[in-house]
Amino acid sequence: MQSVTLLGSTGSIGVSTLDVLARHPDKYRVYALTANRSVAIMVEQCCQFEPDIAVMLDEQSADKLAVELKSKGLTTQVLSGLSALERVADSDETDYVVAAIVGAAGLLPTLAAARAGKHILLANKEALVMSGGLFMREVEANNATLLPVDSEHNAIWQCLPVGEQQKYNYDGKGVRRIILTASGGPFRDYDLAALEHVTPEQAVAHPNWSMGQKISVDSATMMNKGLEVIEARWLFGLKTEQIEVILHRQSIIHSMVDYDDGSVLAQMGNPDMRTPIANALSWPDRIDSGVAPLDLVAVARLDFAEADHQHFPCLALAYQALEAGGTSTAILNAANEVAVEAFLQSKIKFTDIARTIAHVLSVMTPSSGDTLEQVLADDKQSRKLAEEFIR
Ligand code: NAD
Ligand code: MG
Repeated sequence: MQSVTLLGSTGSIGVSTLDVLARHPDKYRVYALTANRSVAIMVEQCCQFEPDIAVMLDEQSADKLAVELKSKGLTTQVLSGLSALERVADSDETDYVVAAIVGAAGLLPTLAAARAGKHILLANKEALVMSGGLFMREVEANNATLLPVDSEHNAIWQCLPVGEQQKYNYDGKGVRRIILTASGGPFRDYDLAALEHVTPEQAVAHPNWSMGQKISVDSATMMNKGLEVIEARWLFGLKTEQIEVILHRQSIIHSMVDYDDGSVLAQMGNPDMRTPIANALSWPDRIDSGVAPLDLVAVARLDFAEADHQHFPCLALAYQALEAGGTSTAILNAANEVAVEAFLQSKIKFTDIARTIAHVLSVMTPSSGDTLEQVLADDKQSRKLAEEFIR
């Protein structure tokens, strides 16, 4: 029986993970669930899974949760704050930590899991984008296992030689390049002028995937693919030029590995996050995820097209930050988080997201990113500059 901590249990990935766990009560037990403020969903999840601990980042939400759980006669202990998130991530009571908090807020608890040598199911790509070098050093030094849940990275993981994946380094090992597929999001067929006028409601309505708000906007700008290029650089130890992005509107091929001998291996499936979640949970075995079998006749065709950096300037900015190195990618990520939030609140236009990030990258001087202090300081400075630019 494996014991699981789920960081961000009330979100899109969190709910899909619990759906998979509920199918295998003989294999997994839930040790801890965590969320920011979603008390009502957390109450339901605690009733169903009876975790030892439930953490709400927000103290008032934790107080509310404690009252609700007590009235239902549950013995789940309720905690609050960042230190409680770290505590359930590095506890001796847990084997698997699912990192499904959105954004930079996920970094410290996920890092705590790495330092404690856990099996980390990584959905929170922002942790690697902010501090990839530092994070991978902690994974290696503490013998942690980092299992990608992001569907593209999970696809690549599955296409790499079995048993070799945890080396996290494929440069010079027969891999010519990896190809990340991208649906292109809801605005893939819009012309550049039309992008100036799109609304938050249109941006969060993804054609193929159902996801949280922030990643949905990132998918519309294709910053999500940019963050994934950076994530792939750290997970697979490849050079920037070995990581390609291609548009594939059906989201059936989740990514590919191109080997030196000309073989290209692809992983396919219906676009449902329960597949990569189940794969990461049970690796190197396979378990049922609840996902319907792929009906290739119904899919009928697979299309591919170039990912145009002019149409998707955020993708170009991510490559640029990765090349610049150091804390550039943390600066990119922080400016993006501020800009996406401002767009969701209708304070800026869709096209201002890329403008804001480009501005912050152009005025800040990145540091080496060798320490957590540097990463957090540059994250903070980037947010400040992005907010000033938006005002
Ligand atoms: P979401 O917004 O649906 O859920 C986020 C979760 O994190 C919630 O449980 C929320 O309570 C919690 N949370 C939010 N802010 C927090 C904070 N400051 N401190 C602690 N907890 C906080 O997001 P999601 O779509 O599930 O995405 C989660 C992560 O997974 C993101 O990093 C995203 O990029 C990645 N991801 C998501 C998908 C997807 O299909 N949704 C696919 C690939 C990768
Ligand atoms: Mg993805």
